[in-house]
Amino acid sequence: MPAKLILRSVILLILFGSSAFAQKQQIDIQRIDPAFWWAGMKNPELQVLVYGANISAATVTMRYPGVEITRIEKTENPNYQFLFLNISAEAKPGVIPITFASGKKKRVLNYELKKREKSGSEYTGFNASDVIYLLMPDRFANGDETNDYVAGMLEKPNRAELFGRHGGDIKGVESKLDYLKDLGVTALWLNPVLENNQAHSTYHGYAISDFYKVDPRFGTNEDFRILTKRTHEKGMKMIMDMVFNHAGSETWFVKDPPQKDWVHQFPEYTNSNYRLSISIDPYASKVDTDKMQQGWFDRHMPDLNQHNKLLATYLIQNSIWWIEYAQLDGIRMDTHPYPYKDFMSAWCKQVLDEYPNFNIVGEVWEERVLLTSYFQRNSKNSDGYQGNLPSITDFPLKSALNTAFNERDGWEEGLLRIYYVLIQDFAYTEPNNNVIFLDNHDITRFATSVGEDINKQKMGFAALLTLRGIPQLFYGGEIGMPGDGGNHGKLRADMPGGWKGDTRSVFTEAGRTASENELFHYISTILNWRKSKSVIHNGKLMHFIPENGIYVYFRYTDTESVMVILNNNSEEKTLTTQRFNERLQGFNSAENIVTKQTVSNLQSIVLPGKSATILELRK
Ligand code: CA
Repeated sequence: MPAKLILRSVILLILFGSSAFAQKQQIDIQRIDPAFWWAGMKNPELQVLVYGANISAATVTMRYPGVEITRIEKTENPNYQFLFLNISAEAKPGVIPITFASGKKKRVLNYELKKREKSGSEYTGFNASDVIYLLMPDRFANGDETNDYVAGMLEKPNRAELFGRHGGDIKGVESKLDYLKDLGVTALWLNPVLENNQAHSTYHGYAISDFYKVDPRFGTNEDFRILTKRTHEKGMKMIMDMVFNHAGSETWFVKDPPQKDWVHQFPEYTNSNYRLSISIDPYASKVDTDKMQQGWFDRHMPDLNQHNKLLATYLIQNSIWWIEYAQLDGIRMDTHPYPYKDFMSAWCKQVLDEYPNFNIVGEVWEERVLLTSYFQRNSKNSDGYQGNLPSITDFPLKSALNTAFNERDGWEEGLLRIYYVLIQDFAYTEPNNNVIFLDNHDITRFATSVGEDINKQKMGFAALLTLRGIPQLFYGGEIGMPGDGGNHGKLRADMPGGWKGDTRSVFTEAGRTASENELFHYISTILNWRKSKSVIHNGKLMHFIPENGIYVYFRYTDTESVMVILNNNSEEKTLTTQRFNERLQGFNSAENIVTKQTVSNLQSIVLPGKSATILELRK
């Protein structure tokens, strides 16, 4: 065989794999993305990616009432074909036989159009009536030890390694749903559950290697669908964490891309500069902008080019597929300002066109209000940008809440920090749709921020659960779990009791220490009270400039009123309430919703040092 031919054979062997050679009479189809779709979607167009050795040589035909192939796109890589189907409103659920023919070879693929479980407008999303519980599936509970290692996965489990895989999974989460329900949260956000088949540090989930497949170490797609169903049965919602900015370097379409420009390429490795400011900066240079939008998140996370139309559609359809398949209630989008912002806007629009009452929160990790508000839908940005994003992560408020209780009040310090964040709410079109939080999987845990002081922790949770917005807790926060943001492995420690053989279980009263129980019950009491309090969900907010280390605010409607008092002084104080008469008028007493005690004298209220007092006012 001439050298050139041998070389070509070797390349073909690498490209197609030996199995393709073994069955060379078959037309090779390794994947169809999405694997199925639904009849009756609002958007009739569907892009179907077909991947297999030299699949572009095949002729494609199909016949199905109400469905037709409107066009076919082939790319520079012969292993791809993109079929564009028009699925009319008349098309019924069923199986579409799609025939692939090449020479004497022929293969029929049965493509399923499923029946929708409910209409797009019946997906109601999450909102300020909810409290979200964020958990890292690898670190919460190991419900199935048999999936700790799965053949074909590059990283093996190692619980002794801080950055290793510890074995937590979907079944583990399912086994703790009653714990979460009793705690009083109403929505779950799991860090990404999709496959991360990377060599190391895959536990966090943010290097997705297959956008259509749950990581087998967490379970199957079906396990995730069932988890969502069980979560719904317990009266809670499911928010899925998605990443469009980057993929894992082991992603199949990164290793054999349909087009070179699916991933941003540089002559030599180039990092993102991680400057979200580029997204809004009217004076940004091209070199900085390119580095921000096209630089890689890290060496193992290649940057995706969402300006490639085929990839853009692939990602948008992927999110819709998961909403429909798993019956999601919301999406949390990672690194929202990193991809091209016109694409992110188009993505939000398409999801909300299909599911008008759905909710999406974009991670905008910035502590300046104008940098976060810019992305929220209907913001009046002078550059005309319309982000279409309903909700943003409220990092400015997080920052204030993490600092306020550690300081004595000054002109801008202490409680004034919270006040000065809230006065900027004019910049948000929907401040009550902001996701508010004390901490998350990337930053120092709140307990550590306040020196593990239980009184300060209570103040933080009381404020979080009564201010405007959608509160989000981070697993372990309810028991005051510490963790420094400088060490992600420790920050994302295992929940004690989630693993067989753990010396104690914080999922039970008996397994928690006295101070853990004290905090747990404090938070749980407020959470369970909050569930039915529309005045907290949708009531107005009025606050009074903090004075003498005391911050008073009210959540109120025409008929209900809740008074929240934060005493940032170390000493007990007696608050004379005349200054708050415009909100106290008409009320004679109150119930302290934590102690359940009645406050019969509203003129003068005794406040313990470093405390929060939540009073439901009575007529
Ligand atoms: Ca496991």
